[in-house]
Amino acid sequence: MLENVKVILVGTSHPGNIGSAARAMKVMGLTEMVLVAPQCQVDEQTRSLASGAADVAQNAVVVETLEEAIEDCVLVVGSSARSRTLEWPMLEPRECGKKFVEEGQKGKVAIVFGRERTGLTNEELQMCHFHVCIPANPEYSSLNLAMAVQTISYEIRVAFLDWQTSAYPQSEQEAYPRNKELEMFYQHLEKVLYSTQFISKDKPNLVMNKFRRLFSRARLEQQELNMLRGVLTAIEKSTSNDDKSN
Ligand code: SAH
Repeated sequence: MLENVKVILVGTSHPGNIGSAARAMKVMGLTEMVLVAPQCQVDEQTRSLASGAADVAQNAVVVETLEEAIEDCVLVVGSSARSRTLEWPMLEPRECGKKFVEEGQKGKVAIVFGRERTGLTNEELQMCHFHVCIPANPEYSSLNLAMAVQTISYEIRVAFLDWQTSAYPQSEQEAYPRNKELEMFYQHLEKVLYSTQFISKDKPNLVMNKFRRLFSRARLEQQELNMLRGVLTAIEKSTSNDDKSN
């Protein structure tokens, strides 16, 4: 199950942080690191701070966008110190660990960390199903990137050990769609909302962000997503028939 966990670092600018994050992961049994548009190279400093976990940093997959990094994932959680800027479904670190263990039995699950200076953008946070916030000192709540990776990786490990040794519920939940399918649904929805003139050209993002929040909260299952795609296709067909008969 732990091999299904992806740790995604977005726009990291300090090579040492990649090394420390790799070490934080490997001691907790996590090995899949993805770097989204890194602002530095994996270098000597990375390897030195990674110590025995240099392989994790060395083998990290590098991609250009967060969308690419999460397209095969059934669960995406964004880690953010600023929990209140966007109202989004939230998880405590402990719940986050459990969720990863439950859903990681069925498919790839990802935890996303932001840039050292500016964290994750709102757009990136809106690509996540949940946000997790480490309840730190409210007057100084921003952890060093690798420390945040350590804290969440530890929670995943604790949940994993619990699941291994106890009667932790074996997952019987419905299948969730991969992120790529969810993104295709949003694109389809946006297209239909334009063509039916529900949204206007001047404020497209506002409405789509609200829909993203709604569907993130609902946590669409595969079958529900298929049904909604069917509804959109039916609307498209009926509006094109109307056009023909006019
Ligand atoms: N100044 C940035 C913080 C960046 S710290 C900001 O205001 O967002 C780098 C990354 O570590 C963050 O993007 C986040 O993924 C993680 N992080 C740091 N502190 C955290 C906290 N208290 N809870 C959850 N994630 C945290």
